[in-house]
Amino acid sequence: MKIAVIGAGFVGATTAQRLVERNLGEVVLYDIVEGLPQGKALDMMESAPIWGFESRVLGTNDPKDLSGAEMVVIASGMARQPGMSRDDLLERNAGIVASVADLVHEHAHQAMVIVVTNPVDALTHLVAAKVGTPKDRIFGMGGILDSARFRHFIATEMGVAQADVDAMVLGGHGDDMVPLPRFATVNGVSIETLLSADQIQKLVARTRDGGAEIVRYLKKGSAYYAPAAAIAQMVESVVRDQKRLLPCSVWCSGQYGITGQFVGLPVILGRSGVEKIVELPLSAAELKELQGSSAHVAAKVAKLQIAA
Ligand code: NAD
Repeated sequence: MKIAVIGAGFVGATTAQRLVERNLGEVVLYDIVEGLPQGKALDMMESAPIWGFESRVLGTNDPKDLSGAEMVVIASGMARQPGMSRDDLLERNAGIVASVADLVHEHAHQAMVIVVTNPVDALTHLVAAKVGTPKDRIFGMGGILDSARFRHFIATEMGVAQADVDAMVLGGHGDDMVPLPRFATVNGVSIETLLSADQIQKLVARTRDGGAEIVRYLKKGSAYYAPAAAIAQMVESVVRDQKRLLPCSVWCSGQYGITGQFVGLPVILGRSGVEKIVELPLSAAELKELQGSSAHVAAKVAKLQIAA
C-alpha cells in the first residue's frame, strides 16, 4: 500500500519511521520545507540495512508524489507550546489543513485519511468536508494516544506489565476527554477493585493533562513518540485488516446520542476503514460527559463554519 504522510515534522517523520520499520507499505513523506522530507527519508533509509526492513520512504516537496496514495496521514501544522491548549491552534492549523485537504482532493481523493493535526476532531471535520472522503474512510487520531497514556499511568501506579493494562478514553481529544475507569482492567480485573477512588481520580487527571505535561517538559513542541505509535497502530489495523477495537475520532450518526460530527468513539478498524462503531453501556454520568465533550467539538466546528 502507498501511504502518504503529510508533514515531516516530529510526528510525521516518526510516523514514517514506524511505518517502514514495520513494513506497512511504501511511504511518501511530504512537507513544504525544501530538503526536510528528503533528508529525513534518506536518513531513515540508511537505517534499513541495520534494521532489516524492505519498505521504502520517499521524501518530497512535490504534491504530485501523493498520487495513487491509498492512505494519507495529515500531520502538518503547528504543535502547541507551553500554556497553550489544543484549541488555541484552531485557526492557524485550519488554514494549513485546508490547503493540504485541497492537495489530497487533487492528487489522492480516493485515499483513506487519518487526521492528526490539532485540534484533531474539528480538523477531521474540515478535511472530510473539503476532500469529500466517505465518512467511514476518514478518522482522527486522539483516543488511542489518550488511552495509552491512561494505560501507562495505571501500569506504573500498580507496578504491573504495561501490556496487561487495557483502558479506553473517549470524547474529543482535548481537556474534556472522557477516560472511562469503569472499563479499565489489569488482565481482565477491573481497576476499581485494585485501586482506591482517590488513586483513580489522580490517574484520570494526569491522563487529561498528559499532552500538556510533555509540552511543559519539552518547552518547544509537543509529544511525538506515542502519537506516532498510535498512528501506526491505526494504519496497521487497516493495512493488515486486523479489525482492532480502537478509540478513534469518527463520524457519528446517532451513536451515543451524537449526530453529524467527529468525536472519539470505540470502533473496529479494518481494510475498509471504520467497520463498526461499538456502543458501550455507558452510565448516565459517562454519557453526559461524552456528550459535553462532543458539544465542545461542535462549537469549534461552528467557528470554522464548515458546511457538513
Ligand atoms: P512540527 O512543527 O514538528 O511539524 C509540523 C510540520 O508541518 C513541519 O515540518 C511543517 O513544515 C509542516 N507543514 C506546515 N504547513 C504545511 C503544509 N501546508 N504542507 C505540508 N507540510 C506543512 O509539529 P509536530 O510535533 O510534528 O506536530 C504536528 C501536528 O500534530 C500538530 O498540530 C500537533 O498538535 C499535532 N499532534 C496531534 C496529536 C494527536 O493526538 N492528534 C498528537 C501529537 C501532535
